[in-house]
Amino acid sequence: MTKILAITNQKGGVGKTTTGVNLAASLAAEKQRVLLVDLDPQGNATMGSGVDKRSLRATVYQVLLGDRELTDVRVRSTNGGYDVIPANRELAGAEVEMVEIERRETRLKEALAGVESEYDFILIDCPPALNLLTVNGLSAAHAVMIPMQCEYYALEGLSDLVQTIKKVRAHLNPKLQIEGLLRTMYDPRNTLALQVSAQLEQHFSDKVYRTVIPRNVRLAEAPSYGMPALKFDRNSKGAQAYLDLAGEMLGRSVPVA
Ligand code: ATP
Ligand code: MG
Repeated sequence: MTKILAITNQKGGVGKTTTGVNLAASLAAEKQRVLLVDLDPQGNATMGSGVDKRSLRATVYQVLLGDRELTDVRVRSTNGGYDVIPANRELAGAEVEMVEIERRETRLKEALAGVESEYDFILIDCPPALNLLTVNGLSAAHAVMIPMQCEYYALEGLSDLVQTIKKVRAHLNPKLQIEGLLRTMYDPRNTLALQVSAQLEQHFSDKVYRTVIPRNVRLAEAPSYGMPALKFDRNSKGAQAYLDLAGEMLGRSVPVA
């Protein structure tokens, strides 16, 4: 069975794309067949996978508008060992242009149906907004992965996201689950981070991944080389943490941080 996960949080810069790219590479390293969908006009997941967003003739944008098949725009991340549905700034127009079209919330879901059986995991990197692109991601997904930094406003943002998930569940995708909350850029020397982390575990218990992603400069450096950290510096703490996360998702026990 294919697992389709939307990586989402309307808050910017929490590690969605870093998680998309590095989890895709880690699952691929575990012999999983992976597709990473970039749903963000910033195109960071595309670039971070080593695909030049400026050189693309077609992207997820044409797929959402029904002008291209998903298989026409699909490219390979040779650095990551997975396939990519790329995006670039063209996608910023989609929000407005899709207002006119039918079934605009489920365009991605329909497009993925044709390739789903080719993959074990489809990861969707959502933009930092609760907009139509994110709704397409949530409609297409079986479950949501929520990366978050353990800081003061994190919990507040979470309740907005949970409301959106409830709405999508009610109107578009009744089976949508919350797969898990992922603590990112974690620094155990920061007392507030420890407190928020403990609160998360209290409120969401087993919905919080046991794997914690540490703040690690290699994770921040790797995208400028178009590589997942696993390829850039396999032994870095960041690369190893995403391998642990892949292991946790595949049902293996992981060391507790
Ligand atoms: P946006 O909302 O803009 O799409 P995002 O949620 O996708 O952002 P990222 O782009 O993954 O977040 O991360 C934001 C910044 O933090 C990037 O510069 C990234 O390289 C860096 N970063 C992400 N995770 C880590 C980490 N664990 N350690 C150090 N730096 C990190
Ligand atoms: Mg991003």
